[in-house]
Amino acid sequence: MLTEALPKRIRYPQAGVEEALVEGFLPINRLARLADALLDNDLDNASVPDFVMVRLRFSSDGPGRTSVVGEAHFEQQWRCQRCLEPVVLRSGCEIEMILAGHKKVIEQLRSDQDSFLTDGDLVDTADIIEDQLLLALPMSPKHEDCDPAFEIPELIEVVPNANRAEGGIDEEIEDEIEEGRQRPFAGLKRLTEKD
Ligand SMILES: [Zn+2]
Repeated sequence: MLTEALPKRIRYPQAGVEEALVEGFLPINRLARLADALLDNDLDNASVPDFVMVRLRFSSDGPGRTSVVGEAHFEQQWRCQRCLEPVVLRSGCEIEMILAGHKKVIEQLRSDQDSFLTDGDLVDTADIIEDQLLLALPMSPKHEDCDPAFEIPELIEVVPNANRAEGGIDEEIEDEIEEGRQRPFAGLKRLTEKD
């Protein structure tokens, strides 16, 4: 059981040397941006979970660098985009990040490595997990298995299929999209010509 509250801040170079495992819950009020995003869940009784469960393993990763690997997750109620009833979903993310207190150290990392530049030897636990959790929120929350709230009218299904078979109207639509994409450039050209 993970019942301990996470420390608000961690002296991470020390944690790296000790290869510390830090686990427990982080109250949602420490994750203001995540809490804001969760309130926008399209339900009348919008609520946010009380906390996020977090597990982080620290280790030294070379001069001035500490690696932190772990995961964070929570459960949240959303409106199912298929049946429109509430659905409770678990959201979670993996953490794999380099912490460093000097910009030069961060600049030497590979571009695909997540990193966080700290102000001194302390890192806020929220700064390690919040961005990753925001990225992990469901785009279109759904039950694994449920029935649509509304039947899709047959007409909508049949017409596009007929078009695709003949290859006629679809092409026109594509032309329109293409035209739409070109419009900003046309506007730009007009501006340049004025100059
Ligand atoms: Zn559903």
